Amino acid sequence: GGGHPLLDVAGLTAGYGASPVLRDVTLQVPAGDIVAVVGANGAGKTTLLRALSGLVRPTAGTALLDGQDLLAAPVEQRVRAGLAHVPEGHGVIVELTVDENLRLGGLWRAGGRDLRAAVDEVYALFEPLARRAASPGHQLSGGERQMLAVGRALVAGPRLLLLDEPSLGLAPRVVADIMTMLRRLCDERGLTILLVEQNVRSALSVADHGVVLHLGQVVATRPARSLLHDDALRHAYLGF
Ligand code: ATP
Repeated sequence: GGGHPLLDVAGLTAGYGASPVLRDVTLQVPAGDIVAVVGANGAGKTTLLRALSGLVRPTAGTALLDGQDLLAAPVEQRVRAGLAHVPEGHGVIVELTVDENLRLGGLWRAGGRDLRAAVDEVYALFEPLARRAASPGHQLSGGERQMLAVGRALVAGPRLLLLDEPSLGLAPRVVADIMTMLRRLCDERGLTILLVEQNVRSALSVADHGVVLHLGQVVATRPARSLLHDDALRHAYLGF
């Protein structure tokens, strides 16, 4: 960690109707770090990722990716700028094969680099996917589907990964494997990750920094470890 913020969000306000779900959210994600956004059900975590990737239109605030204004750009341009969003429930198309899912990730790839090479790079990173390249998504385990979702996002050549609850529905051992994989992507490949999680312990264990969201507002931003060990804060906002 310790670099300049790759993602710089300030005063972000967004929602679905008249009253906003997210209010005046400010956070930074340093290059090469994992920032975990934690908070109760309905705190607005998913809405935050949707606002950044362009699925929800913010009514106020700014979001800069490496100094580039994201919020004014159409979704495709955000992807080309280096943003990739792995949605809640992974978004794998289970009727398609692993290879077909991965190639879909190249839809908006920045020009120049070869799609096949990008897919093969994912196979080199995630050996279980290479073995199952021709298998339809529905034959994969939950952990493999989550791995495929991350792999598909990587094919787009992102600098910043937005990850929505990768632990959802997975056994604790598989969750630990996924978190280890995310750490490796940052440490070995220079990726930066904004991770949204209900699984607070796992998320804060792998993250560099934690942001606590409560009723759509940031109530704490701290080194992840210090959040994990703050009993009063955990009781008040994280429910354990
Ligand atoms: P969860 O983990 O349950 O997804 P969250 O922290 O991600 O929780 P959001 O999904 O961002 O929270 O939801 C925040 C609020 O926005 C909730 O009150 C929810 O009911 C509302 N909301 C979410 N999606 C929509 C939508 N499409 N239309 C209207 N309201 C929505």
